[in-house]
Amino acid sequence: MAPQLSSISPLQNVGVETLIAAVESSRSPLILTDYLRDDNPIIYSNQAFLELTGYDMDDVIGHNCRFLQGEDTDQDTIAELRDAVKYSKSVRVTLKNYKKDGTPFWNDLLMSPITDASGKTTHFLGMQLDITERIETQNSLRAKTAELEASNKELEQFTYATSHDLQEPLRMISSYLQLITKRYGDKLDNDGHTFLGYATEGAERMQTLIYDLLSLSKITTTKDSFKQIAMEQVVERALFNLKLVIEESHADIRIETLPEVRVDVVQMTQLFQNLISNAIKYRQPDVRPIVTISAQEQRDRYVFSVSDNGIGIPKKQFKRIFFVFQRLHTHAEYEGTGIGLAICGKIVDRHGGTIWVESEEGKGSTFKFSLPKNEGSVQ
Ligand code: ADP
Repeated sequence: MAPQLSSISPLQNVGVETLIAAVESSRSPLILTDYLRDDNPIIYSNQAFLELTGYDMDDVIGHNCRFLQGEDTDQDTIAELRDAVKYSKSVRVTLKNYKKDGTPFWNDLLMSPITDASGKTTHFLGMQLDITERIETQNSLRAKTAELEASNKELEQFTYATSHDLQEPLRMISSYLQLITKRYGDKLDNDGHTFLGYATEGAERMQTLIYDLLSLSKITTTKDSFKQIAMEQVVERALFNLKLVIEESHADIRIETLPEVRVDVVQMTQLFQNLISNAIKYRQPDVRPIVTISAQEQRDRYVFSVSDNGIGIPKKQFKRIFFVFQRLHTHAEYEGTGIGLAICGKIVDRHGGTIWVESEEGKGSTFKFSLPKNEGSVQ
């Protein structure tokens, strides 16, 4: 049952004339319908309602408010509205309505029953709000997100298909280069050997590139691949895979206490492996690389850090390096494909976290990534 006006309401001290003026001049479009008459006709509309809908007072009074509806008005919402009115309940709905000239608008409509002293519903008060702008912004945002998701998926499939299909012809190039070296190596002069060397090196680089691209496009996560694990174990796996590089560079790897997190272990291993191998690769000449892996607990997340004493990164490149193929050095200076950090970004993203870098040129870099404390979100 609808609440009744309290007998001690301060409204009783407000003169009827003031009350009328308040309703008349309200910028909120208001209508009053007669609940006791057939088809619940509108018996009052204020000026704001007429301005919103473009109708005249004569078009409105005596008619049921369904004249605002049109072919695109959602029938389920109308049924919800009708049911609430039937059972004297207040109801709030968002409806596509139409102005007198046919222009559609989104109406945030609130209908509340008005009862007499015995608690019987006699009228309904309808308050409208034109929320067209908000709904249109929401809709276009939704459409853009869907478009973006579709094009991202398409791009991922394209990357996968091309990198996959490129492998076969490349294998052919590599094996024939090997065959030429083997069979005709002694017939070639110095230039011939140099050229063949370049060609072989090019083929090898392309193989790495294709392999990295394939790894990037293959990063997908399902809930099943998540497992609760001590992060030290994940780091140990990554270090095992980097054994050779660590030995060759005499890198000093320091692991601080790390928490247990629910992650995709294969992907997390790859993430640490990429970050640690970069920390070693981009070291200062003649300085023993020191790599520290640590974690910090925050309110609802952990922030992991991989810091080094390497060459550092200029501040204006902090964002760029996470994009595919973005490198700050030539191949001759440092080997690489420019895909490693893009892979890291994608992995962290799939776990519901973010990745960033803090660095000072000549002093070193710290790559940080966050992981939510609750189960990583699967996207
Ligand atoms: P790659 O190492 O194959 O070039 P990445 O995507 O892993 O590709 O890194 C992108 C670029 O970011 C690198 O080319 C390098 O310039 C820079 N970078 C990454 N990690 C470090 C680091 N620890 N110290 C300095 N520069 C780094």
